[in-house]
Amino acid sequence: MKTLSAVLFEPHKPVIIEELELQDPKENEVLVKLVGAGICHSDYHYVDGHIKPGNLPLVLGHEGSGIIEKIGSSVKSVFPGDKIIFSMDAMCGFCRNCTNGLPTLCTTYGRTVTMPDGTTRFSKNNTPVYQSNGVGTYSEKTVVPEDTVVKVSDDTPLEKACLIGCAVITGIGSVINRAKVEKGSNVAVFGCGGVGLNVIQGSVFSSASIIIAVDTNEFKLKKAVEMGATHTINPDKNNPVEAIIDITHGGVDYAFEVVGFPKILNQAFKSTSPGGTAVMVGVQPPDTKISVDCFDLLMDRSLIGAYHGTAKPRIDFQWLLDLYKTGRLNLDGLISKQRPLSEVNEAFEDMNAGKVARSILNFD
Ligand code: ZN
Ligand code: ZN
Repeated sequence: MKTLSAVLFEPHKPVIIEELELQDPKENEVLVKLVGAGICHSDYHYVDGHIKPGNLPLVLGHEGSGIIEKIGSSVKSVFPGDKIIFSMDAMCGFCRNCTNGLPTLCTTYGRTVTMPDGTTRFSKNNTPVYQSNGVGTYSEKTVVPEDTVVKVSDDTPLEKACLIGCAVITGIGSVINRAKVEKGSNVAVFGCGGVGLNVIQGSVFSSASIIIAVDTNEFKLKKAVEMGATHTINPDKNNPVEAIIDITHGGVDYAFEVVGFPKILNQAFKSTSPGGTAVMVGVQPPDTKISVDCFDLLMDRSLIGAYHGTAKPRIDFQWLLDLYKTGRLNLDGLISKQRPLSEVNEAFEDMNAGKVARSILNFD
């Protein structure tokens, strides 16, 4: 079959909307018709070269939701017509990490741009086209392993719920699943884009007392307050480490880095109090390193990573949806703009200009 998809052929060039050939799902795969897809920095990082995509050309997009259209012969967990949210990490359910409660670190699938056997279902003139995170949501349709999709209830508003697969779970999960922020904690969040705003929401759910938002963009700081931040710092105006230590009389219990730069991760670490924890959520450029003062570390400080909110998507997506349906998770406030697939480059421009919390591609 044919599908229109947003394809990256070369870094530093605009993404091109191409008509691609899409194969039918194989035995344990599903064909999904997209409803919504979030514009995430991680995909733009392939465009601007912050991350090397590995294989090109690439159908972008790892955050999305849709409706199952067709299933392979051995698929058992979903049927045509079911609503799903993409996990962005396929979960085999049997490897050591899956069994141990860390399915987003599944070793059967890994984080590749192909199916586990190295093939891809998209092609153009018989040349393979790869899929971002093995998903490829900037596309009218995609084929993914059954293990990538999480079935959700029929009353799920998919055009909004697409954000749960990356921005929401990565932010809230890093607070609740990974750092396990305790009630009354002080928290600082460096970077208030789609993920950072959800670190703030997660901190509210954890009953953090002080939540300090750090960003150079005033629009994002305003959003941060809407999501529950109690204080804001613009590093263009104030040294964030000094300001955080000042507000909290000695540093925060938890500092989250949600931008993806070693310099900012260092600031996050330095803004923790003795006994505090710095959490790296942002995707750093490959081969970068940070160094910390050993005496600072000795004072019971921790520096930890949090990948994809340390999520159990089949469980976490359900309670996040319940929080939304009962009015406690703010998804609507995260969505600044909706655009058709054909405006994917403009959506990236809005994100880079800091004009939006999150943009969503809508598929009618
Ligand atoms: Zn993402
Ligand atoms: Zn696994």
